[in-house]
Amino acid sequence: MNIGIDDLPVRDELRGKSPYGAPQLDVPVRLNTNENPYPLPDALVERIAERVREAARHLNRYPDRDAVELRTRLAKYLTDTTGHTVGPAEVWAANGSNEVLQQLLQAFGGPGRTAIGFEPSYSMHALIARGTGTGWISGPRNEDFTVDLAAAEKAIAEHRPDVVFITTPNNPTGTAVPAETVLALYEAAQAAKPSMVVVDEAYVEFSHSASLLPLIEGRPNLVVSRTMSKAFGAAGLRLGYLAAHPAVVDAVQLVRLPYHLSAVTQATALAALEHTGTLLKYVEQLKSERDRLVSELLAAGYEVTASDANFVQFGRFDDAHAVWRQILDRGVLVRDNGVPGRLRVTAGTPEENDAFLDAVREVKKEQS
Ligand code: PMP
Repeated sequence: MNIGIDDLPVRDELRGKSPYGAPQLDVPVRLNTNENPYPLPDALVERIAERVREAARHLNRYPDRDAVELRTRLAKYLTDTTGHTVGPAEVWAANGSNEVLQQLLQAFGGPGRTAIGFEPSYSMHALIARGTGTGWISGPRNEDFTVDLAAAEKAIAEHRPDVVFITTPNNPTGTAVPAETVLALYEAAQAAKPSMVVVDEAYVEFSHSASLLPLIEGRPNLVVSRTMSKAFGAAGLRLGYLAAHPAVVDAVQLVRLPYHLSAVTQATALAALEHTGTLLKYVEQLKSERDRLVSELLAAGYEVTASDANFVQFGRFDDAHAVWRQILDRGVLVRDNGVPGRLRVTAGTPEENDAFLDAVREVKKEQS
């Protein structure tokens, strides 16, 4: 019997839909999911093994449900890097920032409620909204992919969303959102509802601008979401976190599954945080490789969106997907995010970036 999803009594809003799916293809150069290209250093791998061995002895017990040691260590990292003091009560952690965002929508979105994002942006915001029964509103951007403040304020006033997503630097465009814009949107969101404003800073370590974390002071409806998947080079760990007023952390605890963060995850993340300096040492190199990609793409005659992240959006193409395929035929996997006429490339090692640049120069030659 050939039975598909739509033959099941599945929720109406899931009918005919596809799951999130960046292709995981086995090609020599993979520059499609904004990962850090450098494997973890040996000393850290050893430390993880030690910490996990210790944790393994206690796997008969549930893990620390509140992940207090880990949240304390994450709070220290945030305090050290932003100059704004936060404590463990203002920090929450989960399996990737995707889970953090899901928990936020479970607590502040849900049936009968709506969330807005300014698109193109991180596609999971809309998908997590759908999964949590939250209505999704697609807000506008300018032609150059910056947030159109007047139009965004108008959309917030008109739709009165319960949650406002601001991704800075934005994925897939790389665009940073200035603090003044975030503050203006926060004010607009408070005047309209009030609603929660979630600042998704997954790529902030690569930005020219500082983290907006200090803005949580005196703004209980502002949340900053972070991840160890990008700058920390630990996408496989699945560790995301947020900083916000302690009341937000209390609200999220109402919806989190008990013991959601395994003892193995907590031990691994703690080991990684002991090596913060080593892990973050590639950030500067990746930033300069990102800048090199921008200048070489421009030199090759492509149009490039200014980037504050570890990836670059480039174009324009009449048929972006056909170009994606031509680059793939040369052994390099980039990302077609569905933004008309554009593709996105993640900054890899210098060798990987050279392979990508060779491929796109060849493609350009073929086109002219
Ligand atoms: N936010 C943004 C803007 C992202 O691009 C990503 C990953 N692509 C995430 C959040 C989720 O990352 P993770 O779940 O690995 O923390």
